[in-house]
Amino acid sequence: MISVEQALEEILSYFAVLEAEEKPILDCLDQVLVEDIYSAIDIPPLDNSAMDGFAVRAVDTRGACESSPKILTVIDEVAAGSLAGREVESGTAIRIMTGAPLPSGADSVVQFEDTDEVVRKSSGGNLSHIGILRQVGEGLNVRCKGEDIAGGALILRKGTVLHPSEIGILASLGHPTVLVIRRPVVSILATGDELVEVGQPLPPGKIYNSNSYSIASQVLRYGGLPKILGIGHDSVSSLNEKLDEGLDADMLITSGGVSLGDYDVVKNVLAERGEIALWTVCMKPGKPSAFGVITNGEKRIPLLGLPGNPVSSMVTFEQFARPAILKMLGKKNFAKPWVQAIIGDNVRNTDGRRIFARVIVAKRGERYYARLTGPQGSGILTSMARANGLAVIPENTKEVKAGDIVKVQMLNWSENLILEDEKCVQ
Ligand code: AMP
Ligand code: MG
Repeated sequence: MISVEQALEEILSYFAVLEAEEKPILDCLDQVLVEDIYSAIDIPPLDNSAMDGFAVRAVDTRGACESSPKILTVIDEVAAGSLAGREVESGTAIRIMTGAPLPSGADSVVQFEDTDEVVRKSSGGNLSHIGILRQVGEGLNVRCKGEDIAGGALILRKGTVLHPSEIGILASLGHPTVLVIRRPVVSILATGDELVEVGQPLPPGKIYNSNSYSIASQVLRYGGLPKILGIGHDSVSSLNEKLDEGLDADMLITSGGVSLGDYDVVKNVLAERGEIALWTVCMKPGKPSAFGVITNGEKRIPLLGLPGNPVSSMVTFEQFARPAILKMLGKKNFAKPWVQAIIGDNVRNTDGRRIFARVIVAKRGERYYARLTGPQGSGILTSMARANGLAVIPENTKEVKAGDIVKVQMLNWSENLILEDEKCVQ
């Protein structure tokens, strides 16, 4: 039995970063950029107004106050997307909307609230003039040309992960498509004679195949493209037949059929069609995990055999399949985000494996607190659904007592993390 770290290192050695593909920017969320992006334009393209108001020469507002407004002649109006037809000269102002280019001659914008426009409008006053109620300095409420992005500058480096703001930047630079590392295709095969596909009647003694769905959702969450191969029976020939449909993938994942039972045939398939690289990992749940490759002509496809129990399948996916997907995607950081939490329950470690206990993590003040989600059987999928983290109890720790500090891998950063008394008021 090897450690989680050894297993991960071995597994990752079989994966490489995938090739690049050019795609519409909206399909690239969380993918890794493989080209440097330079800006061909200035953003903003021209000096423009940050407020609705009046474009003026700051010098013309000198000494203005509520009791003694400076009166300027309004000579034009300019909205976002168009250019003013006139120049602001001494004693004049141009009414301007947010985002509209600053007219030449003007050097600042006085917002409506600092003028007497409302009073003039409500009293049917003369709108050909405007009273400025406040002295302003040069540049007030002006967004300068190129202040966000300067033309010619390197804006996004190769290797950047495209988050919503980077996708927005690509759009603001006018890129409809971009070169990114492609998403890995992950074929998923559930094994077991006891399994029935959802949507079908459930005969006595059978259970629905849930693993394909939880695994496919995990693949999607971490940026891969799941390809569900269905259910294989507990025979080498059945698994071979199903796996043949998935050999175009970058990775194969099976669930079930890897423990010591008479019908656990995934290892036999690996031995027959490729090689077994590892089997059994010092963890709980997840001990019977297997990994190897299947050879298909020139191609060698890594196969990760996850245990069948629904919690084991999900936990081992997090430890091994997630990093493999992230590596193929060109990401650099494979570690799950974690916190140190004060555990509220005793957890005994009877056989020296690393325990991944399902916990609910909540934050009170600066501290994180973790509670077990209830019975921890590896078949109890609801214990996973209630959890937002996995408390990691090291293999050499015999017992963790309530009040001890444990490391918790975070599965979700949901609002559950914050205790009731700290919830943000919307
Ligand atoms: P195995 O690793 O094949 O011995 O499976 C262990 C247990 O996990 C089985 O007895 C089933 O109860 C359960 N199991 C296996 N495959 C699935 C699946 N695809 N969906 C839900 N439960 C499963
Ligand atoms: Mg089975």
